[in-house]
Amino acid sequence: MTGYYSVLIESVSNLFDVNVSLKEDKYIYCVRCSNKIDLTKYGGTEIRFCDACGHNIENELIKRGMK
Ligand SMILES: [Zn+2]
Repeated sequence: MTGYYSVLIESVSNLFDVNVSLKEDKYIYCVRCSNKIDLTKYGGTEIRFCDACGHNIENELIKRGMK
């Protein structure tokens, strides 16, 4: 029972995290060229590189807890 509930709570909180990040962090600014990158452009999960300069923004996303 305990195991079932912890899995359930975990999946619910994952959904919650996705909703929060979509609402509050739709954009990220590239640390190299300050390009505004729309994180929802590809569904919010596939963006790894700045579309202007090609800088890898994955670390920025990880720092924000968005990955
Ligand atoms: Zn850039």
